[in-house]
Amino acid sequence: MRLLLVLTILLSTLSFGQPASPDPDGGMPDLDKFSPAQTDKSLDPCSDFFQYACGKWLKANPIPSDQAGWGTFNKLAIWNVAAIHKTLEQASAPSANRTPADQKAGDHYASCMDEAAINKAGITPLKPALDQIAALKDKSQLPALVASLQQSVRPANLNFIEAQYQGILFGIYNSPDFDDARVNIGTLDQSGMNMPSREFYLNDDQKSKEIRDKYVKHVAHMLELSGESKEQAASDASAILSMETALAKAAMDIVVRRDPKNVNHKMTTAEVQTLTPSFQWSKYFGALPAQVAKQYLVTSPDFFRGMDKLIASEPVEHWRGYLRYSLLHLSANSLSQPFVEENFDFYGRTLSGTKEIQPRWRRCSAYADIDLGDAVGQAYVARYFSPESKERMLLMVKTIKGALSADIDAADWMSPDTKKKAHIKLEAQVDKIAYPDRWQDYSSVDIKRNDYLGNMQRASRFELQRRLGEIGKPVDRYHWGMTPPTVNAYEDAQTNTINFPAGILQPPFFDAKLGDAVNYGAIGAVIGHEIIHGYDDQGRKFDADGNLRDWWTPKDSAAYDERDSCIADEYTQDVPEAGVKQNGKLSLGEDTADNGGVHIALSGLQSALKAQGKELDSPTEGGVTELQTFFLAYANVWCGENRPEAARTAVLTQGHSLNRYRVNNVVGNVADFAHAFGCKAGQPMARANACRVW
Ligand SMILES: [Zn+2]
Repeated sequence: MRLLLVLTILLSTLSFGQPASPDPDGGMPDLDKFSPAQTDKSLDPCSDFFQYACGKWLKANPIPSDQAGWGTFNKLAIWNVAAIHKTLEQASAPSANRTPADQKAGDHYASCMDEAAINKAGITPLKPALDQIAALKDKSQLPALVASLQQSVRPANLNFIEAQYQGILFGIYNSPDFDDARVNIGTLDQSGMNMPSREFYLNDDQKSKEIRDKYVKHVAHMLELSGESKEQAASDASAILSMETALAKAAMDIVVRRDPKNVNHKMTTAEVQTLTPSFQWSKYFGALPAQVAKQYLVTSPDFFRGMDKLIASEPVEHWRGYLRYSLLHLSANSLSQPFVEENFDFYGRTLSGTKEIQPRWRRCSAYADIDLGDAVGQAYVARYFSPESKERMLLMVKTIKGALSADIDAADWMSPDTKKKAHIKLEAQVDKIAYPDRWQDYSSVDIKRNDYLGNMQRASRFELQRRLGEIGKPVDRYHWGMTPPTVNAYEDAQTNTINFPAGILQPPFFDAKLGDAVNYGAIGAVIGHEIIHGYDDQGRKFDADGNLRDWWTPKDSAAYDERDSCIADEYTQDVPEAGVKQNGKLSLGEDTADNGGVHIALSGLQSALKAQGKELDSPTEGGVTELQTFFLAYANVWCGENRPEAARTAVLTQGHSLNRYRVNNVVGNVADFAHAFGCKAGQPMARANACRVW
């Protein structure tokens, strides 16, 4: 699935998380409201629209010391965490009338907040798993051990086309079969690297070398904290870097991985075994709570070949060190303060530039959401989401889909045959708004008030079991890949769905009190973005049923690629604030969605205004036109910036352009923008060779 944002704040700052001050008041910050008055009138909108629309906001909102970046959406995410926190504070107070969901969520939160008990216990709660690793005497025991450890850490989000899967050695999960999206197939995916992507191991520049040096020191510190001697820890750390580097070399490149054809390798269980003679899959599956399937999707056979070589060549003591560190890293946030701090020092300070960790109440609230999302989400939507918002969203989605439908009809580069199939796909695209129809039942997950690590492990095992239990079963198009309070949205080409959690349906993205120009510019462009994902360079390869099947005539396909290469070229650009160059082929899907999303949201606004007897050039109360308001509201949701370290990590590993470019590169391609602000041809925000796919 493809996301709207790089990562939600819950994951991006918390997976790099650590220690804190007590809850000051748990109060809810004010939500940012859109106002055209916040523009910087001393600047020319045609030379740098991002600065014009966001400069004042950026000045007034410096990045807080506990954040890797800060923008209007981060403020909403913090508001949502504060909202969750209020519900959790109530749910954590033992009382006879707690609902079963409140009991689970409340006790999970309470166990996390009991920092004194967590610190007192130290490494003890992790000892059973560490003892299992210490008992690894022969590499033939590796498959069962890996299966056991994978069940005791949080399963990563399924996002396998775009980003790498973070897990112990490799990833296992369910996903719709590329060739028959009605059925879930078991997927074996590359993973096992504890830095964000293979580039961190393979790039040769000075900064990358510096980060690797710090990584080795960090790994050694973690191992020492867990009880290893200084000498042992140092020697294990350098072996771990070399093993993870071997995995990185074998792993598929992030751009190659974007083409779904490149990850669609189905293999029988016997073929998987032949691929990796040193790893006995029967022992692995025997130790997992899942049936052995007849076939698996092996996203990257080369990765598994590399893994096999590594198993054959590395001595068993190196495997003990590697597994020990992987487990420590993926459990660090549920352990005592020294582990939390050391983990934050590398993943927060070094990789993101964050100065200090978020307050504990915020981290504990977010972790409850990650582990027991539907239990936390029920209380959240009951209190903070209004059904009227859903009605208005449904109407906007319908209007914007109508705009894409008209755009398809008008495309002079597409044949009638391909247009017909594009329409069928659009008709079949399901929109999901706010929260699931059915809530997950957590009654079988044992949540204890005095066992935080255990709670995380049991909730993680439950979720992995749920995923593995789906293998071979029909795909549920109505399952959600995000929790209700999440500030994000996604499109999933294989279920042909677009998904908008309740968490993003708040100001400044969505404001029931404000007019259509604001809402179409903000959440409307997000809706457009997700709809267009079904027609970007990845999404267009899937048909209406979610199958990987080419429905384009060769001529139309070539015309598409030519148009899209304009966008890839435009975004292959220097990003001075990140100190690296952006690869426009990596961000192509997101950039195509941003550009097309704005076009169809704007057409949607035009028809909404028409119904009210207004036009795009009509004046509004704010002293600007409807059209100007649309673009200002669009820029407003992207007001924000990252610390240089986080910007670098994002550009190297993620498919999303940084906020400044999500605004400026897009508006420069839209003639209506030049019209709105009177930009002359050749000015930076009125590109001579404007790109347009949708
Ligand atoms: Zn996206």
